[in-house]
Amino acid sequence: SDVTEALSRLVRDVPDYPEPGIVYKDITPLLADHGALTAVVHALAAAGRDDDGRTAVDLVLGMESRGFILGAPVALELGVGFVPVRKEGKLPRETHTESYSLEYGEATLEIHTDAIAPGSRVLLVDDVLATGGTMAATRRLVESCGGVAHGAAVLLELSFLPGREAIGDLPLLALGQV
Ligand code: IMP
Repeated sequence: SDVTEALSRLVRDVPDYPEPGIVYKDITPLLADHGALTAVVHALAAAGRDDDGRTAVDLVLGMESRGFILGAPVALELGVGFVPVRKEGKLPRETHTESYSLEYGEATLEIHTDAIAPGSRVLLVDDVLATGGTMAATRRLVESCGGVAHGAAVLLELSFLPGREAIGDLPLLALGQV
């Protein structure tokens, strides 16, 4: 498909970044290609639709930073609003906070306590699912607000890591796997 072709041609492997032994997936060439960006945003948005093609979520959430780049156009395509989950200390008002261990290091994520109306269905968008720690922590933030995590959508799943197990029963759409 267009999406598979775009992912294989426009996601670059960067060995030993940000640490020796890590092969980092660099999606910036894909972001710079209008046709590829259009195709992947459209494909990610499918995770927020029901079988009849109707929008099945109330909000799209993206995780800092590449989840912002992909999540906001997915929200526009679905006809809903966008919520950012940010790294520690960036949001100006009252937050819920979740800490977790990352593929490399530790991280803390935050969401505004009033970002999601109770009962709202939320699609979680990011670029890469690695250990799943980021997605699992983000799901907990959604639930702290009283929201319902409808599903997760990512460009790439690193299938040599246990990301799927980490996110439990949260439905995952991965446009590609490595
Ligand atoms: P996880 O929490 O281990 O699943 O890591 C996922 C988070 O780290 C996501 O927010 C990704 O943006 C980032 N990440 C991990 N590995 C890569 C990579 O190879 N390329 C780009 N981002 C990555």
